[in-house]
Amino acid sequence: MAAIIGHEGLRRALRAIAAMEEPPHALLFSGPARTGRTLLALELATLLNCDAPAPDDGPCECRACRLIAERNHPDVLHLEPGDSFCRGGGGHQPHPGSRDIRICQVRGLIESVSRYPFEGRFRVIIIEPADRMGLEAANTLLKTLEEPPPATVIALITAAPENLLETIRSRCRTLTVSLVSDEVVAEGLRERGFPDELAARAAAESRRRPADALAFAEQPDLMDDRGRLLDRCAELAGARAAERMTYAGDLAERWRRDRELVLTELDVWETFWEERLRTKVGAEDEARAALDALQAVAEARSDLDAQVVARMALELMLLRFPAVTLAAEGAPAPSRNENES
Ligand SMILES: [Zn+2]
Ligand SMILES: [Zn+2]
Repeated sequence: MAAIIGHEGLRRALRAIAAMEEPPHALLFSGPARTGRTLLALELATLLNCDAPAPDDGPCECRACRLIAERNHPDVLHLEPGDSFCRGGGGHQPHPGSRDIRICQVRGLIESVSRYPFEGRFRVIIIEPADRMGLEAANTLLKTLEEPPPATVIALITAAPENLLETIRSRCRTLTVSLVSDEVVAEGLRERGFPDELAARAAAESRRRPADALAFAEQPDLMDDRGRLLDRCAELAGARAAERMTYAGDLAERWRRDRELVLTELDVWETFWEERLRTKVGAEDEARAALDALQAVAEARSDLDAQVVARMALELMLLRFPAVTLAAEGAPAPSRNENES
């Protein structure tokens, strides 16, 4: 599948898996979001079901490959947060906006798997993000993993494998999806026809995440927006508590009008702390503080999801952020994007 940037070694491993007489029943694609995890799982589905494997690794036009690429193949099922596979009924409240994968969804999935025969050679079930399954949902899935249906491969996708049940993890073959180097990302963008300079900048800004790089190359404005937001995170991280609380209040106010906007801002905070974690590997205290901060962002997300008062959830998050002294590292560059030209 030409859409994947990087991951040569992993793609070779997938070809080997697909060529096995009996591929593993469960695979765990473990690695950060936006790196191509879903595309890799879909590539496996393609390899398992393609009717006419193209010798040159080019895009295949067979029915199976086409349907998988369009995300329309009846045997490639995608279980994700929200209400996919939920049957509802019996006083069950609908939950299309849920951020979890619930037990009703896992049950619905298992029911449809057992009820409908399939047309391809293999059924592939993609569960993403697998760490959003609660305990009940995970235990229900576990029963399926213990007695796997024939010719079915379950692909679990997660950035946090430690949040999965050990009993689930141990039944999966783990495939580690790594970040992709700037050079490989830039090359992938050039292959897609983006000019050299844009490809290099988008790759550098993407933090080795090909999906972000592609979005940046397609919409360069996003890079400027993100740069501005990151600069503001740096300012706030070094600001006094009062200033942080004002910001938390503004954010809570925005939550009432535009949730997506606030969730995007939480993404940027995650990026900010991840970046610090990456650059502070040697400094244990600061690395730990960055980890705590990431945990605070994750908890704010689940609080917001659980309808905790937004102001409280966001203030708590800001309070838990460590105080960062920026002076010693040079203040955040006010003109981030100009620095990159
Ligand atoms: Zn094909
Ligand atoms: Zn439900």
